[in-house]
Amino acid sequence: MDKYFKNGINVLKKLHESGYEAFFVGGYVRDMLLDIKSTDIDITTSALPEEVIEVFDNVKETGKKYGSVTVIIDGYKYEVTTFRNDGEYYDNRRPESVEYTKNLKSDLNRRDFTINALVMDSDEVIHDNFDSKADLEKRIIKTINDPFKRFEEDSLRILRAFRFVSKIGFDIEEKTLEAIKELACSVKNISIERVMVELNKIFRGKYRNKALKYMIETGVDKELYNISEGLEFVSNLDVELEPLEVFIICFIFSDISDEWKFSNKHYRLIDQILILQEIIKEDIFNKFIVYVNGLESCLLCNKINVILGYKDQEALIRKLESNLPIKDVCDLKFKGQDILWLTTLKKKSVIGKVVDDLKYNVIMGYMPNEYEVLKEYALKKVDELQAEMGDNNE
Ligand code: ATP
Ligand code: MG
Repeated sequence: MDKYFKNGINVLKKLHESGYEAFFVGGYVRDMLLDIKSTDIDITTSALPEEVIEVFDNVKETGKKYGSVTVIIDGYKYEVTTFRNDGEYYDNRRPESVEYTKNLKSDLNRRDFTINALVMDSDEVIHDNFDSKADLEKRIIKTINDPFKRFEEDSLRILRAFRFVSKIGFDIEEKTLEAIKELACSVKNISIERVMVELNKIFRGKYRNKALKYMIETGVDKELYNISEGLEFVSNLDVELEPLEVFIICFIFSDISDEWKFSNKHYRLIDQILILQEIIKEDIFNKFIVYVNGLESCLLCNKINVILGYKDQEALIRKLESNLPIKDVCDLKFKGQDILWLTTLKKKSVIGKVVDDLKYNVIMGYMPNEYEVLKEYALKKVDELQAEMGDNNE
């Protein structure tokens, strides 16, 4: 028995000793029955957050407002949430209020799918209130209670259904699927940040293609800001892709919509790959392109180009990279600093231009990376530029 599990059982026992009910719930129990290793134990309890805080030494108030705290034991984390009924739902999302309850069954009633509503007690007995085990056997994803009502309450559950298809490969039960088709457009109400969290999980799953095909069948793909063409293409690919790679493919098929929110680092990478892909799809990589874009980006661009049916240039990219005469502008034998020392040129942008020129010639192999050769070329270039500029040298 692993330590994470054992300590988790001890959390349940300790809550019992203090007079509360407590169970493992949701994904962990589901995955255990499916023999999938899970690293995320959620605990549901009749204890209020304040009461949980009193029982354990190390508790972080991670989501106290919503009834959740994190109990930490030997560095392992357990999210402990008080039994609750969700209050009224508005705008197909957040419940207006959180109401606590002492009743496990009503806590389970608010959960999304039958397979996510199993609980396990401290004796490792599993309690099944919604025929969840039968649905695990049938390998189906089915909402607890009326699917229309449950998706209307919270449209995020629609994306969560696809998330579980992608993770465990189950089918979506017929009525649940009908409701998703009917309510597909409500996906527009979900904040883009939440959409992206779910899409990342959908794109990463082992059964990604099955999930994507469901998204297409239900029309949910059309609600996702211009990526439906790309998703259709990816749904037929037999290639593992990082979520960002799926997005890039989508943005090759249709322009990137302003709705999406990536980190600045990811935006830069997306832009870089889109530009590079456009240049390289009909052309071949050269040393300068590899130098400017870096090995990783060139390989990523190549991976995408190969998927799109263009020539595989991986071997060439690696060879060009390993034969680069310089890896960095500092490796130039004659530098911008030398221009400052040897000439009267002061304008940084002009010095930059000369250095770029040196870099290009050295990288492409048109000039050896030797001080004298570069100096002669640079000084000639400076003379030319100074003549062009006249007095404008500040
Ligand atoms: P995963 O393995 O992907 O983490 P999970 O089932 O643990 O899957 P979580 O998002 O961690 O999913 O949520 C934990 C549990 O909380 C779920 O199993 C489900 O019972 C409940 N839950 C989470 N989000 C919702 C929701 N939007 N509506 C209803 N119940 C939810
Ligand atoms: Mg989880």
